[in-house]
Amino acid sequence: MKKHNFFAGPSILPQSTVDNTSKAIHDFAGMGLSLMEVSHRSKQFIAVVDEATALFKELLGIPEGYSVLFLGGGASLQFCMVPFNLMNKKAAYLNTGEWASKAIKEGKVFGEVDVVASSEDKNFNYIPKGYVIPADADYFHITTNNTIFGTEIHHDIESPVPLVADMSSDIFSRPVDISRYALIYGGAQKNLAPAGVTFVIVKNDILGKVDRKIPTMLDYRTHIKGESMFNTPPVVPIYAALQTLRWLKEMGGVAEMQKINIKKANLLYGEIERNKMFKPTIPAREDRSLMNVCFVMNDDYAQFEEEFDKFASSKGMVGIKGHRSVGGFRASLYNALPYESVEALVAVMQEFEMSH
Ligand SMILES: *Cc1c(COP(=O)(O)O)cnc(C)c1O
Repeated sequence: MKKHNFFAGPSILPQSTVDNTSKAIHDFAGMGLSLMEVSHRSKQFIAVVDEATALFKELLGIPEGYSVLFLGGGASLQFCMVPFNLMNKKAAYLNTGEWASKAIKEGKVFGEVDVVASSEDKNFNYIPKGYVIPADADYFHITTNNTIFGTEIHHDIESPVPLVADMSSDIFSRPVDISRYALIYGGAQKNLAPAGVTFVIVKNDILGKVDRKIPTMLDYRTHIKGESMFNTPPVVPIYAALQTLRWLKEMGGVAEMQKINIKKANLLYGEIERNKMFKPTIPAREDRSLMNVCFVMNDDYAQFEEEFDKFASSKGMVGIKGHRSVGGFRASLYNALPYESVEALVAVMQEFEMSH
């Protein structure tokens, strides 16, 4: 039976990423050696990093003056690396979910954190609006897509201070005006590559302005200077990321991706709203994530949750169980998830409704 992969992360990747990476695991760049066995300083692998960096810049339209880095440690290490490198006294944060809360906690290690707004009062089911970003903050931190709760900031906000964004789960899902951001980071395992590599896009001139000492490995300047090769980078995930970037380019880039992503999300949200057995968890349509679609059983059908879970699994739907802090279901519709998989899920929801 065909499996439809709705996992939230690690998650579905383009078939070409899986195929090309598995080929390179056996024979990398015609060297007669596995990708796992070759020096990261071999000219063949340096070419991989160079091409991945160039495609990052091309696909996202990254202007001059920014660096693209491939690091270890996950998005979670960025929660502390950002304040380590950028916070002198005070930073502002928008609290839109569990990942944002974790970033806030790390920020507090280094100084004063001003949480300008939070949606925690309603279990993070909306994006706060109308908040004021303090002009004396060293930066303003947002999480553009809240993977767990299924909300998303769909546009590039304006900020009077350097804007920092965790884009772990919506990078490459839409065009982004990079010039509005000072730093963008994310774990690659949602929309780009297998787990193990973290991407950072950083505006070079925001660095070097803090007074504290920064350990070498945690200083962005080390990795800019070393071109992501200061130490051994995660070779296999970077290779896989390159395959996804090539696929993205072939598919027509992020503008094309956005069109397909809107189509996929509309189809599923439409069914959730129409189907008598389900309801969405995010009331405001404009706040709903295109990447992680959360839904629960309608009140009259609450007792059927487990049954639907089993039914959907029996039809090849994988990874739709909601995060424990929301319950219900979450279908992640990352770039690589085909439209047909959403159609298949919708058909399963309709079949379940018919039988009740
Ligand atoms: C998954 C995720 C993280 C955590 O990423 P790690 O690489 O596991 O540290 C952080 N932020 C967001 C928005 C995520 O989706």
